[in-house]
Amino acid sequence: MDCLFCNIIAKKFPAVFVYEDEKVAVFLDINPTNPGHTLVVPKAHFENIFDVTEETFCDVAAATKRLAPAIRAAVGADGINLMVNNGRAAGQLIPHIHLHIVPRLMADGFRHWKGAPYKNGEIEQVAEKIRAVLA
Ligand code: 5GP
Ligand code: ZN
Repeated sequence: MDCLFCNIIAKKFPAVFVYEDEKVAVFLDINPTNPGHTLVVPKAHFENIFDVTEETFCDVAAATKRLAPAIRAAVGADGINLMVNNGRAAGQLIPHIHLHIVPRLMADGFRHWKGAPYKNGEIEQVAEKIRAVLA
């Protein structure tokens, strides 16, 4: 077993857990954006959003709904980011799907990522491509 998070789930590698049930393991990120930065990890191994089952992703979502308010209360956060990085281009480092719960403070320097408006007509073209894949 060469997956870091599978080894943490199996208790072969250490981690500081805050919650666990038969579906998910929830432990603190060792390199937090802010104290309380937590990872919600399904016990079943999937790489990311492209191969995870709907059922397993729903298990992660259900645990997150329970954990996020508790983390906010515990560390006195002003807000929370929820994030899943999927693929190297999106910053995924650990190839076992996990959702970041990141407590945010008003003065912690949060910046939105850069955006740029669509060119004329481009937004409809992009939407049409997505609808075509879905159809
Ligand atoms: P990713 O970029 O894959 O979404 O994020 C991976 C996260 O896992 C990073 O925030 C990183 O700090 C965290 N991480 C990496 N190795 C370990 C570890 O051994 N234990 C814990 N608890 N977190 C880890
Ligand atoms: Zn794994």
